[in-house]
Amino acid sequence: MPAPNCRPGALSGKRERRGVRRSAFAVALLAVLTAGPASSQLAPSIAPAPAPAPAPAPATFAYAGELTQGGWLRGTVAGGTVALTLDGAPVEFAGDGRFLVAFDRDAGPSAMLIATLGDGWIVTAPLTIAPRAWRIEHIAADPRPGAVPSEEYLRRRAIELERINAARRIVSGSQGWRQDFIWPAKGRISGRFGSQRVYRGQPGSYHSGIDIAPGANGGASGTPFVAPADGVVILAAESPFTLEGNLLMIDHGNGLNSAFLHCSELAVREGETVRRGQFVGRIGATGRATGPHLHWSLKWHAARLAPILFTGPMN
Ligand SMILES: [Zn+2]
Repeated sequence: MPAPNCRPGALSGKRERRGVRRSAFAVALLAVLTAGPASSQLAPSIAPAPAPAPAPAPATFAYAGELTQGGWLRGTVAGGTVALTLDGAPVEFAGDGRFLVAFDRDAGPSAMLIATLGDGWIVTAPLTIAPRAWRIEHIAADPRPGAVPSEEYLRRRAIELERINAARRIVSGSQGWRQDFIWPAKGRISGRFGSQRVYRGQPGSYHSGIDIAPGANGGASGTPFVAPADGVVILAAESPFTLEGNLLMIDHGNGLNSAFLHCSELAVREGETVRRGQFVGRIGATGRATGPHLHWSLKWHAARLAPILFTGPMN
């Protein structure tokens, strides 16, 4: 997506009060991210002001994260910020200036964060979103023909999808988005986020979450799993959904939410507040699943994310 027009004076006639400062810290951080490990925690610093008179308040972004497809960035807006956008779309930020943005599996190669300050200045942070090597399997066959869905299935599915969409619209105010995420369960990773099959050049839909099969043999239905971060339960299916089975969804606030599929049992109810590490359900094979596993997907608004970039590797 091209960067918005943000040259000095582009915003209005009040040229002397409006301008652009590119965050020097952001540029420096990007250099570190390109050269070093994917995740960096750097102390915030203040970019030197370009010295207009009168000097505006210190204004730069400070942030760290996984600037890659399926990844995220947490940061603090410049002092005096009144609005924040990512590629033109409004982004929430908290009273203390903290914010989260995240990048879809197919995002990139660049994005633009723009903060508008109360005094009319804007601060830009151009981001480079590194591509990831998704596991793509080329199949020399046509996709399996699905059975023609019945009227009954279509009717039921529409209700299920509406419940999922309604859950995602809930603004819970949870602050879990600020936390380092933990693994909801440990086990063999039996399906990776983003992997995709291509049938004779026709891409199938990619895997939208990570699959965790508990136990050495992957057969341990009933294994407990926990909330990966603080949140509020926004959906707890009381009867299995056709594809997802017993579905649990937890909102972590600021547009970030988790979904857990195929559960054998849910231990929490809608509206309940949960803490990171709290037992919330048991792994199963309900819905469309070939064996017991926990499918965990993470979304930030419409962006589908790689859970492993929130937790770090399992050990
Ligand atoms: Zn899965």
